[in-house]
Amino acid sequence: MDIAVIGSNMVDLITYIDRMPNEGETLEAPSFEMGHGGKGANQAVAAAKLKSDVMMVTKVGDDLFADDTIKNLAAHGINTDFTQKVAGVPSGVAPIFVDTESNNRILIIKGANQYLSPEDVDQAAEQLKSVSLIVLQLEIPLPTVYRAIEFGQQHNIPVILNPAPASHELDFDYVCKCDFFIPNGPELEILTGMPVETDEEVYEAASTLIEKGVKNVIVTLGSRGIIWMTKEQTHRVESHKVAAVDTSGAGDAFIGCFAHYYVQTGDVLESIKMANAFAALSVTKRGTQASYPDMEQLRQFTE
Ligand code: ATP
Repeated sequence: MDIAVIGSNMVDLITYIDRMPNEGETLEAPSFEMGHGGKGANQAVAAAKLKSDVMMVTKVGDDLFADDTIKNLAAHGINTDFTQKVAGVPSGVAPIFVDTESNNRILIIKGANQYLSPEDVDQAAEQLKSVSLIVLQLEIPLPTVYRAIEFGQQHNIPVILNPAPASHELDFDYVCKCDFFIPNGPELEILTGMPVETDEEVYEAASTLIEKGVKNVIVTLGSRGIIWMTKEQTHRVESHKVAAVDTSGAGDAFIGCFAHYYVQTGDVLESIKMANAFAALSVTKRGTQASYPDMEQLRQFTE
């Protein structure tokens, strides 16, 4: 097994609207779509699309979304031995409202994701020991994230932490035990309390994390590209110029692809460059997982 994603899954319930209804008003909306999402599942699918062997430790509810979610992971070749159902609880869902100017309003109901516990990490221990990389986000309880980080450290398995959504409660003693810390700009701003409008500001904010002992900080900055900082060096990678139609899930695309190439090559800069291309391709299509390219499409784009 190459990669274990210990994290969330959600079903996106996307309603396209002309406008939001007022209080007490019922309004007809032009269209509706369902999609598979959740940061953990998105990242797992991105890596699996590139043919990494991926396992996912996650929880679904016992509603009509549960089997469909498991089926979707399995259809991407993801191992679901540790994707468990929780009785009497809904699956994670994200009602999303998209207006005619593509502005989003998103609600997240974590549902079964809140039940992914440190014990679930322990239960998967035998299988987790065989992975080359652990990937984590913050849509599951923090104690579970911390247990997974400790597990990685005990077994010499590198850990990527994507601090999304940003939480002020995140304990940096654990962050320092991760190999890669990958926030986007707004998350870096929330976690450091520092502005990130300019590159100089991003360098300053990221360097406060390096001073705390974080090993690799990789900040994704949307169309502005990526900044990678360690104690010794700083790299800036420009984003690709593409016609963006939907940037949702771009950060997850970046992380899943980075994870794939890091396991394959161990080369951080090369993995960042491939992830930058993969994420750029993903924003040229609508949807999250549905917008992720496969290896052939990525190869054609990077040649
Ligand atoms: P999301 O929350 O929607 O998943 P994010 O805010 O976490 O995304 P971003 O920093 O916006 O993530 O984007 C991740 C990466 O995707 C960027 O570093 C870049 O490589 C690529 N990307 C995003 N937007 C664009 C764009 N408009 N053009 C080219 N590349 C883009």
